[in-house]
Amino acid sequence: MGIFEDILLNARSAVDCVGRKAGNVIDISKLKLAAADLRSELVQKYQILGRIVYEEQTSEKNYDKTKQELIEKIKELKIHLESVNDLIESTKHRIKCSSCGSYNAKGAVFCSKCGEKLETEENTAEHMSPDDVIDFTEDNFEDDDLL
Ligand SMILES: [Zn+2]
Repeated sequence: MGIFEDILLNARSAVDCVGRKAGNVIDISKLKLAAADLRSELVQKYQILGRIVYEEQTSEKNYDKTKQELIEKIKELKIHLESVNDLIESTKHRIKCSSCGSYNAKGAVFCSKCGEKLETEENTAEHMSPDDVIDFTEDNFEDDDLL
């Protein structure tokens, strides 16, 4: 009995983590990490639940209380995982403000939070590096033309 209680109590709570992050600026990579954490925690809970059922079948012990706690925790994890996944989906289609970091609806011209002019999707951070490389090459070509 003690082992299971320990596992339950000591399991890192990804749920609390996500709850805290949700209040701050949404970062898609952090959301993906949180979703992965929630998924692995969920798998762990299912494994413990399976083991408890096995223990019950092979001994006279009763783990009803622990089982109930686990089921409640699994329900909680599933709800959080779903909301994190929804957040990832909605964040994917938004424009991040380069000034304050908040996300704006697709097609928005100005940030709804700070009023900063938003960059178009082609100029977002994800595409910065390839653009920089192309610009650099073009500059070199211009130099060659001058010579
Ligand atoms: Zn802003």
